[in-house]
Amino acid sequence: LTLLGIESSCDDSAAAVVRSDRAVLSSVVEGQAALHAPFGGVVPEIAARAHAEKLDGCVARALAEAGVGLADLDAVAVTSGPGLIGGVLSGVMLARGIAAATGLPLVGVNHLAGHALTPRLTDGLEFPYLMLLVSGGHCQFLMVSGPGEFRRLGGTIDDAPGEAFDKVAKLLALPQPGGPPLEAEALKGDAKRFALPRPLLDRPGCDMSFSGLKTAVLRARDALIAEHGGLRRQDRADLCASFQAAVAAVLAEKTRRALAESEAPVLAVAGGVAANSVIRAALQGVCEKAGVGFTAPPLRLCTDNAAMIAWAGIEKLQAGLVDPADLTARPRWPLDAMAAPMIGSGK
Ligand code: ATP
Ligand code: FE
Repeated sequence: LTLLGIESSCDDSAAAVVRSDRAVLSSVVEGQAALHAPFGGVVPEIAARAHAEKLDGCVARALAEAGVGLADLDAVAVTSGPGLIGGVLSGVMLARGIAAATGLPLVGVNHLAGHALTPRLTDGLEFPYLMLLVSGGHCQFLMVSGPGEFRRLGGTIDDAPGEAFDKVAKLLALPQPGGPPLEAEALKGDAKRFALPRPLLDRPGCDMSFSGLKTAVLRARDALIAEHGGLRRQDRADLCASFQAAVAAVLAEKTRRALAESEAPVLAVAGGVAANSVIRAALQGVCEKAGVGFTAPPLRLCTDNAAMIAWAGIEKLQAGLVDPADLTARPRWPLDAMAAPMIGSGK
């Protein structure tokens, strides 16, 4: 099978061509960071218009780079939720148009299912496995037992870790997105200098919280500024290191619990925060102790992309599921609420 995938649920317009033998023939991602930067966050109307303008070009490039034509495809897969409704609609309408023009089957994919199934594309991972999704918008443990079988074991009750990295970076006058510069600062700092909280570790279960940590950094910062008339270089590095250590400690302990509860043989991590080497090492350590495998797909496939959507579409198609020609967009579509037997029917 060869599928075209289309993704437009947040601030990346993406298209990809993927084969059922796990070959990624092309994966085009066009970000919109520059468009949203002046507003300090993703503006839904701007995102929707940018997707409408860029998606055609992404699809054309994905087909050209893959060296395939529409006639070589077996189906079109598209993110049909969850996400910003305007963007999701742009993708769904384009996919519907292509399907109508070519007669190809249409497959609606849950964006989170796309992330959760990525290790099967990149590593050929067998079911079941535990997925920790840690990005700018998400933070959850998912037990993945089949292409449409996801059980949520817990997740953040407030901010996602990437969001916390971004907000703390902002507090410390570091550039956005905050993860990479904060990690670089932390390298020069002392992680034991500030005793920041480890939220929810005192409570059972796998839920997490990161917004209190951000507030604790704010207080520590203000105390330092009041004392020294400004934030000194070393103080900032120490704050970064202490914050990063707290996030890593929380993720590691909750992962230990999720592994014990699920008895999963492998942990797969996905999302931009999985790029953090301190967090990655902490998670790897937990897996080694538990005698459990560890895998992290390459970053370009574990941040938002369309190859994961094409792949999830392949898994859905292989299970005999296609969607009607009038596939609709679903702004809300929690994975664990998917009562449908498979990746969801888009209805
Ligand atoms: P989603 O995919 O959930 O809709 P998103 O597009 O924000 O959200 P990603 O692209 O997966 O998510 O990840 C971006 C986030 O990852 C940002 O918040 C960024 O700060 C964070 N991040 C990237 N690199 C690092 C790093 N080295 N350490 C910590 N965080 C990082
Ligand atoms: Fe995503």
